[in-house]
Amino acid sequence: NNFSSFSLSDDIQKALCVLDYKIPTEVQERVIPQALEKKDLIVKAKTGSGKTAAYAIPICEMIDWLENKPQALILTPTRELAVQVKEDFTNIGRFKRIKAAAIYGGHPISIEKTELKQKTHVAVGTPGRVMDHIRKGTLPLSQISCLVIDEADRMLDMGFIDQVEEIINELPKDRVTMLFSATMPQKIKELSLSEHKAPVQIDI
Ligand code: AMP
Repeated sequence: NNFSSFSLSDDIQKALCVLDYKIPTEVQERVIPQALEKKDLIVKAKTGSGKTAAYAIPICEMIDWLENKPQALILTPTRELAVQVKEDFTNIGRFKRIKAAAIYGGHPISIEKTELKQKTHVAVGTPGRVMDHIRKGTLPLSQISCLVIDEADRMLDMGFIDQVEEIINELPKDRVTMLFSATMPQKIKELSLSEHKAPVQIDI
């Protein structure tokens, strides 16, 4: 019952060793194999369950280093979570030299633009700022093959759900979507229903 039971490359396994992640948490055990098979997922899991690595591990595994445009977009309700998630991607993707950028309100947009112009594999951000970059043309979406909506219920509480839907409508249709939420209010279910083709539901 360790990470070597998943088909992960040596670069990712080595990074998990450095992080001292020896045993997958329950959410990781259930999400990683499905995500590696590119299934759409709706996951009911709380902060502290190891949910970030549950999506960051398979996404890092699937990223093509050579591609210059972002391949994954992670939406978070807060700047703190955006920064944390960016760090997790940097740590898990260190031996693949995966570059993640955090984009959020209150952070200088000029710095973000420069970062996004250089190679960025994963963009992590809050909905309002992500939408700003999309409108300005500074966040190219053509190569996004994976969307994560993290802490979806907090996104709803904070009034970001319309912006999340707006962003979803801009993304390529040919992609994987993973939604994580501690609770599943009707609005979140509707969002996932309209969004996900035949999502796999995972309750932790
Ligand atoms: P999260 O629920 O994503 O906020 O993760 C909670 C904490 O658990 C973070 O500090 C992670 O670094 C840590 N963590 C995640 N997965 C594992 C694992 N498999 N083994 C040990 N620690 C982990």
